[in-house]
Amino acid sequence: MKRTLVWFRQDLRLADNPALSHAVASGRVLAVYVLDTTNHSDTDNALSHVAETGLGSASAWWLHSSLVQLKQATEGHLLVVSGDPRYEIPKIAKQYDCDGVAWNRCYHPWQTERDTEIKASLIQQSIEVNTFNGSLLWEPWTVLKKDGTPYKVFTPFYRKGCLASQEPRFPLPVPDNIEWIETDSEYTVSDMKLLPTLSWGEGLAHQWQPGEEGAKQRLQVFLNGPLDSYHNDRNLPSITGTSMLSPHLHFGEISVNQIWYAAKGAKHGNMDDPGLDCYLSELGWREFSYYLLFHFPALPKQNFQQKFDRFPWLKDEHTLTAWQKGLTGYPIVDAGMRELYETGYMHNRVRMIVGSFLVKNLLLDWRHGERWFWDTLVDADLASNSASWQWIAGSGADAAPYFRIFNPITQGEKFDSEGDYVKRFCPELSKLPKKYIHKPFDAPSEILAHCGVELGDNYPKPIVDLKASRQRALDAFAKTRG
Ligand code: FAD
Repeated sequence: MKRTLVWFRQDLRLADNPALSHAVASGRVLAVYVLDTTNHSDTDNALSHVAETGLGSASAWWLHSSLVQLKQATEGHLLVVSGDPRYEIPKIAKQYDCDGVAWNRCYHPWQTERDTEIKASLIQQSIEVNTFNGSLLWEPWTVLKKDGTPYKVFTPFYRKGCLASQEPRFPLPVPDNIEWIETDSEYTVSDMKLLPTLSWGEGLAHQWQPGEEGAKQRLQVFLNGPLDSYHNDRNLPSITGTSMLSPHLHFGEISVNQIWYAAKGAKHGNMDDPGLDCYLSELGWREFSYYLLFHFPALPKQNFQQKFDRFPWLKDEHTLTAWQKGLTGYPIVDAGMRELYETGYMHNRVRMIVGSFLVKNLLLDWRHGERWFWDTLVDADLASNSASWQWIAGSGADAAPYFRIFNPITQGEKFDSEGDYVKRFCPELSKLPKKYIHKPFDAPSEILAHCGVELGDNYPKPIVDLKASRQRALDAFAKTRG
């Protein structure tokens, strides 16, 4: 009977796991997770913060909980290790007498480089290697324009390149009768020391249930309700109008194929259903982000549009800290930044508002925002985070035009018209009438006093003037045309 090492990575699940199904079909399975502690700075300096050693704090918390769940799901047989997979995977395969190693592919530049090396070294030891697509609907090299070059614009990528090509792979069930290979390691998930030293994780635990079961439940809740009006409600941060599946997807506790087919099934395959069409196209944006990162590996560190290399970003620790702490004096921005810190998540509409505020009103480099999100988001994802930050900065592929500068007051009034979202995360403003909830600085002093708001004391005065900072941003942009 064959013995296959299944290397779990961003696929922390048993269902629809092609590598696992392959291994089970051929014999016994050794389940392994390696926390990659290598410093990738020697291969790519600017990307060093994204190596797993540089996991953001919120992601590290999630990973801990997800691995605990996976260990249970494997009846305690998951072997966890910290170290360099280049060394650990061949060593463990040999130690446990495996004839094969299988994994689902990852697409980050440093991962593909690492995995190629590992594959070569295993083959040299006469160990069979099988790799699979477990994370994307369409792998990046399968979707190209007629001239063989990659798409740079979302709509043709998605509609012509993806939808008009092959149907995505249909999801696989949890394999029957998995025969796990016993392991003898005493090293545990806790030994990886992923949990934050601060009590921050407690707030996250209230909000989330990492693991395959938690992902399944989230999907069901979404299909039973929000999917119907997703196209409208996805923009309203005060309600749960979206699926909240992003961290589960990032860690692969559920596959995008499972979500794709479950959503289509819930609407009987009616692609004209506006909720379904809109939702599937958001999954398409995730594909596009991975696609861009694969074809343009410098995306997390370099402007996609080179003219932005001339952009005169400011250096200002004071405004950056105010933004990070949710103390800018603009309620929708502050609510978003506080939601992020309290829950490890921020609503997509608000991510766009706070992003625009950082790069345009504060004129700070998008990489500051990308890094803060990296540390604090439970769904921090190199592809989606860097593509989205470049989109909002105007420097990315198919990006928002630079002159589209979100006004946090009008955005707040439009998408949080009752102010419920702001009141939840900025409780010091909760007594303000709707008229002033997005602009407390315009409220008459008697109203502020009556509502217990002391600007500059228990809530900040605006750190920039919107009109002046908008003009400053447009002037700065003009310099990139040079
Ligand atoms: P839903 O609305 O339910 O969408 C379903 C899924 O589609 C999401 O789970 C996600 O996987 C994908 N998706 C939705 N919108 C986008 C998008 N614009 N780009 C790429 N994928 C998308 N998403 C991340 O997963 N990780 C990040 O690090 C990340 N950083 C972002 C940074 C900025 C500045 C912005 C503007 C957006 C970022 N996003 C990121 C995209 C988006 O905000 C989140 O995917 C979404 O808010 C997650 O919530 P949800 O699961 O309820 O999404």
